[in-house]
Amino acid sequence: MDHKVVDRIQDLHNFGEFGGVNPSISDSSTYTFLSAKKMFDTFEGKTDGCYLYSRHSSPSNLYLGEALASLEATESANVTASGMGAITAVILQLCSAGDHIVSSRTIYGGTYAFMKNLLSKFGITTSFIDITYPGCVEEAIKANTKMIFCEAISNPLLEVADLKKLGEIASKKNIPLIVDNTFSPLSITPTKHGATIVIQSLTKFINGTSDGVAGAICASKDFCLELKDVNAGAGMLLGSTLDSQRAASILKNMRTLHIRIQKHSSNALYLAENFEREGLKVCYPGLRSHPGYEVMASQMNPEFGFGGILTLDVGSIEKANQLMELMQNRNLGYLAVSLGFYKTLFSAPGTSTSSEIPLEEQKEMGLTDGLLRISIGLDNDIKRTFKMMRECMVQLDILKDRKTPILMK
Ligand code: PLP
Repeated sequence: MDHKVVDRIQDLHNFGEFGGVNPSISDSSTYTFLSAKKMFDTFEGKTDGCYLYSRHSSPSNLYLGEALASLEATESANVTASGMGAITAVILQLCSAGDHIVSSRTIYGGTYAFMKNLLSKFGITTSFIDITYPGCVEEAIKANTKMIFCEAISNPLLEVADLKKLGEIASKKNIPLIVDNTFSPLSITPTKHGATIVIQSLTKFINGTSDGVAGAICASKDFCLELKDVNAGAGMLLGSTLDSQRAASILKNMRTLHIRIQKHSSNALYLAENFEREGLKVCYPGLRSHPGYEVMASQMNPEFGFGGILTLDVGSIEKANQLMELMQNRNLGYLAVSLGFYKTLFSAPGTSTSSEIPLEEQKEMGLTDGLLRISIGLDNDIKRTFKMMRECMVQLDILKDRKTPILMK
């Protein structure tokens, strides 16, 4: 078992200004200089460790960045005001008008819409490819391709990217492999398998309390500095800056990430196995029936499990909506987008988080309208949760009540 990743987070410590056990929050947008020359040198990027203006960097954002670099085993990391803030900055830093991207076709709807509708306005085109066929990815690469983009476990179809193969293709073609690891922090460390840059929406598992929006770019020291460059840095100039107060609160939540991920994963595996046993159409990378199971098993950090997300196909959007409403009424979770909360969250991606993807394309990629994406919570008694979810499904005729009815207290 590889303990390196989590140990690097545990090794970090930063005291507060008065010896506090938490680092002090930098509650300033701007910083004083003792000399005008020092201010000029800082603008020129020649004074390591000096702060200038908080859109550029702040101590609280640097502390959080340090923890994220440890998490993703990169030299450095920049934090951003959202996951989309991270994705847009990376792409615009690496691509110019006339360039081309090869992207997985099953990605978060916002990323898809950015590539398809916004980047195309600036002459940057994207080929959306089935990432589970690395041969097709290689074929799609052209002379002007600037990156391969994918999600380690995709939203919402939970396809598992073969990062080793994609990394080999990327290095053969001398382009970076950019991996959004929002669905699998700790479970997968993409840089161990060939990713060049890792993106996180901290809004999800990493923060875990659904009270803030944030993102991160985990990359080489040089790339992180490039993003902050006052003349040409997409991070600095697009202005997607994370507030220091929020950075400090996310850093505190990150300290329990390893425990939370283990619980999300073990709860999700329990439900996935039992739903499958009941004959439901369940998709979870920890099931042997999942087409990406072998790849997942070969590239995961086993102690953190297969992640906290599963999908269920209940046949139609009507059934999906009825089930979500009933589960919410029984306090089994919330009908809400997003993921990584202590409470189970469910939504129908076709009409919510992936609605940016046109219907024909949804069909082509296997995104059916009865599909439910479920982010499994930290329930202490997952057996009871399963029994209660099963009861909801029996009541709605999604499951036949073949067995003795389960009597709830
Ligand atoms: N990446 C993935 C895989 C996501 O699921 C999301 C949001 O749902 C994002 C990126 C965007 O993150 P944010 O909402 O923090 O901008």
